[in-house]
Amino acid sequence: MAELEVRVISERREGLLVELGRVVSEHDHVLVRQRLAPDTQGASLTLVLRGPDERRAALERALGTHPRVVRLELAPREAAMPPDEVVPVAAELPQAVSAPPKTLGYGAASAADVVQVEHMLPSLAKDYPRIFPWLINLEYAVAAEAREASLHLAGRRAGAWVFRRDFLFGARLALGDALRRIALPALRELVLVELHGHQLHVRGCPLCQPGGLSGGRFFCGFVEGLLADALAGGVPRASEVSCHCHGEPECVFKVGS
Ligand SMILES: [Zn+2]
Repeated sequence: MAELEVRVISERREGLLVELGRVVSEHDHVLVRQRLAPDTQGASLTLVLRGPDERRAALERALGTHPRVVRLELAPREAAMPPDEVVPVAAELPQAVSAPPKTLGYGAASAADVVQVEHMLPSLAKDYPRIFPWLINLEYAVAAEAREASLHLAGRRAGAWVFRRDFLFGARLALGDALRRIALPALRELVLVELHGHQLHVRGCPLCQPGGLSGGRFFCGFVEGLLADALAGGVPRASEVSCHCHGEPECVFKVGS
């Protein structure tokens, strides 16, 4: 497993990360970091990728011949970003106005960019569980003040969809059982996760890069959407109490009802 850094020049930034993200995962690589910036020719997208060495040449070829790619540059290995360097993804994005509230109400979704979220959902369902390029794309597609609420709404819609698909006909459960029998297996399709009491610990969350903004609102919404019709009593509420983007080893989500 080696890290590979490539820089891609494209005429447009819209949808670029999603389209190239698909090529990356088709070649058994994962996206470690990305940086999207304006360029005189349109957009410049730097990708740090990780995957098996034997797939690397094919991936480079596929990226280099992709119709969206005007030019592909490979970073010399010694010049590649060291693994722990913080890449200012957030610098591309207007800063969030304020920290998310500790307790998330459903009213938060009122500020979501519903049109963008609805537009993305069919693609999210089609590519599920490889959804993170779509979510990262959503973060770029919406206004800064709508970012967190849009992620939250996308999470709720995705969670409700997964519940209907996989868990609909079970009995209603106590919160602890619902977390163990529904939230944990559903989240394991997406990320490395463990359950400790009523807290979900996510390791290496692809939406929360160190030094960037937290994408944890997606997971809050996802768990709330998953469990909305699953609990014997109360309405699920999730909040992120610790986040990888602030240097913590894990993102921790507290769930209550
Ligand atoms: Zn996080």
